[in-house]
Amino acid sequence: MLNFVLFGPPGAGKGTQSQKLIDKYQLIHISTGDLFRAHIKDQTTLGQKVSQLIADGQLVPDEITIAMLEEEVDKNPQAQGIIFDGFPRTVPQAKALDAFLESKGTAISGVIALDVDQAELTKRIAQRQLETGRVDDQADKLQKRIEEYFNKTVQVLPYYEAQNKLTKVNGTGEIENIFTDLVAVVDQF
Ligand code: AMP
Repeated sequence: MLNFVLFGPPGAGKGTQSQKLIDKYQLIHISTGDLFRAHIKDQTTLGQKVSQLIADGQLVPDEITIAMLEEEVDKNPQAQGIIFDGFPRTVPQAKALDAFLESKGTAISGVIALDVDQAELTKRIAQRQLETGRVDDQADKLQKRIEEYFNKTVQVLPYYEAQNKLTKVNGTGEIENIFTDLVAVVDQF
């Protein structure tokens, strides 16, 4: 299986590039953010539990996130591979993912970190907020998400670096050019 993590701060282009990558490689795409938003929209018990945290830009506790992720992977036993988008965001999540995939006889092939500077991220998210109305894209909530990213999520990078699985890709510029760079990395996995 070709399993990889697309990693990057809010607004790095993970969703946009994932869509292009799944079309090219016939993979499935699991975005924990999308899954949470669907639960909130459907007003499930899980959705009710996490909606305030998400609206405030805080991370959902690991236990809840990991259980939801594993359930989603189990729904796709025929998958040729999975792009993980927005997961893992903490080291315990990364360890849980490794153990879970190992129990299925597979593993993460690689991790791609999209690099985008702060000014560009703020600009893109302001635009996305206008287009989608995502409450957690509003300026005050966004600040919290960026803090969560720099306090907790970046710690996942050394975890994968130690496994020699990390590649950084410049996430600024034309979508097609970034995609070409991503494909060159994925083809090495
Ligand atoms: P995203 O669409 O990936 O930016 O995720 C939106 C929000 O969902 C995040 O700000 C978190 O509140 C929550 N979330 C998504 N993925 C995770 C995760 N792996 N761990 C904890 N919280 C998450």
